[in-house]
Amino acid sequence: MTTLLDDLVSKALRRERPTRSEALAVLGGAEELLDVVAAGAKVRREFFGKRVKLNTIINMKSGLCPEDCSYCSQRLGSATEILKYSWITPEAAADTADAAVRAGAKRVCLVASGRGPGNRDITRIETTIEAIKKDNPHVEVCVCLGLLSDGQAERLAKAGAHAYSHNLNTSEERYADICTTHTFADRVDTLKQAGAAGLSPCSGAIFGMGESDSDIVDLAVALRELDPDSVPVNFLIPFEGTPLGQRWELTPERCLRILALFRFYFPDVEVRLAGGREIHLRGMQPLALHLANSIFLGDYLTSEGQPGEDDRQMIADAGFVVEGVEEQTLPGARHDLVAVRRRGAGTGLPSNT
Ligand code: SF4
Repeated sequence: MTTLLDDLVSKALRRERPTRSEALAVLGGAEELLDVVAAGAKVRREFFGKRVKLNTIINMKSGLCPEDCSYCSQRLGSATEILKYSWITPEAAADTADAAVRAGAKRVCLVASGRGPGNRDITRIETTIEAIKKDNPHVEVCVCLGLLSDGQAERLAKAGAHAYSHNLNTSEERYADICTTHTFADRVDTLKQAGAAGLSPCSGAIFGMGESDSDIVDLAVALRELDPDSVPVNFLIPFEGTPLGQRWELTPERCLRILALFRFYFPDVEVRLAGGREIHLRGMQPLALHLANSIFLGDYLTSEGQPGEDDRQMIADAGFVVEGVEEQTLPGARHDLVAVRRRGAGTGLPSNT
């Protein structure tokens, strides 16, 4: 007789997604936490071995956003005392990127507050990518500028951006509860534009905003339909001065169950442990490395992360290694994409023409 977790592991190794009831059982505590982590770890090990990819965030423009995302310290009307500044220069961004690469980062995420970029902003980012690549030609540059307009994704791809990041954040049903100035559909549309332009799609979530288990499953399903290459899993950082500033509802166990569920939904995709890990997982962060294969190194957009040295020590202590620049993150073998022909010549079925 197989257990729920055996079935989930077998399915994940075949890249099949969990059923809704299986997913709800993982979140609901039907299985012991350490058994859930061990099951997720088997899947993580199969596709990513012991590697941990390091990423770093550069906040190109901070604060003063006209949008009202209720989790965000940069939102319209935020009373959080964050750093506020307009665009940093391409040279300043390149210097920051260079320091991060020397500390082990493989991906640099260029992020700017705002609803979306104007064409002058895209020009700024093009120049910034050029400045970063001058000294670090192999670093992956991911761009995160909000909602894109026609032609902007193509410009970013041409400038050498590797990926575009735009989180769905929460389920479609709950989206209007966390933001009223744009919609879930707007976000999906931008992700599709980025993917169509050849940028690697990066999209994830923020948990701890009052969502139910059912919302979490809805979001995982919606994200999987977008077929992202990387999925950041954030845990709400409740900034005082934002509408969600008093929400401290996450426990380390809840975070680990969510991460395990995301590993089952995204077995061979980069699952990135993102903002909020220090404050919500606390001493349980090393266990999360058995589920996520990627973390952010250094500070976040408007809050400080734990020192890079502590992260590198934690990775080594837990028996993992930092992924090298020459190593491929995603598995190269995608046999699920190869369909053996069963129509046309030699069969009784019409050909696919
Ligand atoms: S998440 Fe982005 S769009 Fe929303 S308020 Fe913050 S900076 Fe603005």
